[in-house]
Amino acid sequence: MSIELFLPDATSRSYPDGTTGTEVAESIGPRLAAAAVAISLNGQLLDLSRPLPSGGLVSIITESSEEGRQVLRHSTAHVLAQAVLSLFPGAHFAIGPAIEDGFYYDFDVGRPFTPDDVAAIQERMSDLIGDDQPFERQEVGKDEALAIFADQPFKKEIIDAVDPTEISGEGEVTLYRNDGFIDLCRGPHVPSTGRIKAFRLTRTAGAYWRGDEQRPQLQRIYGTAWESRAALDAYLQRLEEAERRDHRRLGPELDLFSFPRELGSGLAVWHPKGGLVRKVIEDYSRRVHLAHGYHIVVSPHVARSQLWKTSGHLNFYVEGMYPAIDLDEGDTYFVKPMNCPFHILIFRARPRSYRELPLRLYELGTVYRYERSGVLHGLLRMRGFTQDDSHIFCRRGQLADELLNLLEFTLMVLRDFGFEEFEADVSTRNPDKWMGALDMWEEATEALTDALAKAGLNYRIAEGEAAFYGPKIDVHIKDAIGRRWQLTTLQVDFAQPENFVLDYAEAGNRKERPVMIHRALFGSVERFFGILVEHYAGAFPMWLAPVQVSIIPVADRHLDYARRVGESVTEVDLRAEVVDSDETVGEKIRAALTMKHPAVLVVGDKDVEQETVGFRWYGEDREQRGVALQQAVELLVDAARAPQ
Ligand SMILES: [Zn+2]
Ligand SMILES: [Zn+2]
Repeated sequence: MSIELFLPDATSRSYPDGTTGTEVAESIGPRLAAAAVAISLNGQLLDLSRPLPSGGLVSIITESSEEGRQVLRHSTAHVLAQAVLSLFPGAHFAIGPAIEDGFYYDFDVGRPFTPDDVAAIQERMSDLIGDDQPFERQEVGKDEALAIFADQPFKKEIIDAVDPTEISGEGEVTLYRNDGFIDLCRGPHVPSTGRIKAFRLTRTAGAYWRGDEQRPQLQRIYGTAWESRAALDAYLQRLEEAERRDHRRLGPELDLFSFPRELGSGLAVWHPKGGLVRKVIEDYSRRVHLAHGYHIVVSPHVARSQLWKTSGHLNFYVEGMYPAIDLDEGDTYFVKPMNCPFHILIFRARPRSYRELPLRLYELGTVYRYERSGVLHGLLRMRGFTQDDSHIFCRRGQLADELLNLLEFTLMVLRDFGFEEFEADVSTRNPDKWMGALDMWEEATEALTDALAKAGLNYRIAEGEAAFYGPKIDVHIKDAIGRRWQLTTLQVDFAQPENFVLDYAEAGNRKERPVMIHRALFGSVERFFGILVEHYAGAFPMWLAPVQVSIIPVADRHLDYARRVGESVTEVDLRAEVVDSDETVGEKIRAALTMKHPAVLVVGDKDVEQETVGFRWYGEDREQRGVALQQAVELLVDAARAPQ
């Protein structure tokens, strides 16, 4: 008997029964076989050593592909657990998945790992990799598996749950064995530990079992693994660059914001400099919205439970909300997790005519969401933040134009902040979970993809991933070091106009239901700010910088003149700081560079005499001497102009 395999180049070949992935790879070519780590059969990844259970569509997964790296990383997680169990007798091990760019494994060893522990674990892993131990797959019954893991409570819990996502189905439990180490796993793995060519343990952290704060706290070790030393080095360099830009480090360093512990998790205070940048961003946002036909509205932070019932939040979103506030009058209030219901109330405040549509409401609205503490991340994921939130009410026939309009507006704004590369995801109807009319969905989805095509954006269709109430576009940007960030969402909503029974009068007074679009462009001001800090590594472009010009007197006797220079600069609405300290001029310049001020003016004897300044842009190592003050001011004004 034989099986028929279809290869990615659309050819097909027949192979004898019992053919393994390795044999398929070898039959295609020795280079491919050397780089192979697994085989995909009809979309399912299998170990190379396994006889293929059937024919079908195959492709060889190589170590430098994203899927191949996942196999490599997950295999490295096994070796990590193997090393920890051998170094810490009695350790309990939990789960060890591959994650983006790496892997982790969770352990209970009764105390946190020290840096010395991690070094020893890494060394033991290198030994195990040097041994080139083959990974062997084995299927056993549930009882046998429970016996094997008799002293491993987390493994027993997984086996007991017989969660089909964690072990294979039909009551069989899959184990993988290398040397004396056994783990519970679906696979696949690289053929042997020797295939792990470059890895590094990167950090440790606490993590709750099952992510549940009521369950035991475990110790997590993170690591990364790559197909070559060069790929690992390049990754570590990217990591270092990302750390250098980390807004959680730069925020306090540049005196922009902080997260005081007594304030509570996921909540920040904005310092004067951060507050100033934020004001510039918000002023810009208000100005462009007004210029593009939006109306600025304002809504309160709390609302009666009735509003959240009508909007559906109390049914579908209650876990993301702060708990109820019960008032004496018998009313219950909730802090708002979203601004939408308020904007709907504004739409509904009086009868609306088609002549008013599209009606675009915009608010810098602060919302509060009860995010789990484990997912909070600086300004990027908070419990209280301000959305640049818009709700657009339009006629059904206006939807396509309005979406294109919105997308173009979005790209214009993001370009103004220095982003150049965009991609998008379009989430389409989930056939099992949707409401409204099918033709409305089709129209809206087509309008979304048309808008993306017209704007020239690459997009991916996320088939069936839309929320039940409408399709959406997520716009992603690439930052200065190539990272992708999801920013803007354009969400079509057929449900809220129904929930709130919204209508408007068409020509001839016929009542029609409007379509609603939710749109947060920055997402949240905080998150956008965090991304900007990382994109610019804290060196904001001049129009955003909190201090645009730093004026440094060489000695105390130049301070008066420095102040006069400062006045000339602030007179033209620039943000200047005159440095008055006991430091040497070199120290003062270094401090200005550390704070990443865009321009530094140094003034000494000659400058006082001749009404000049020494001029230096951030990032340039040379100072231009003897620039006439008037000319310096003109240069600064030019550079500081906000996008129009
Ligand atoms: Zn595994
Ligand atoms: Zn909304």
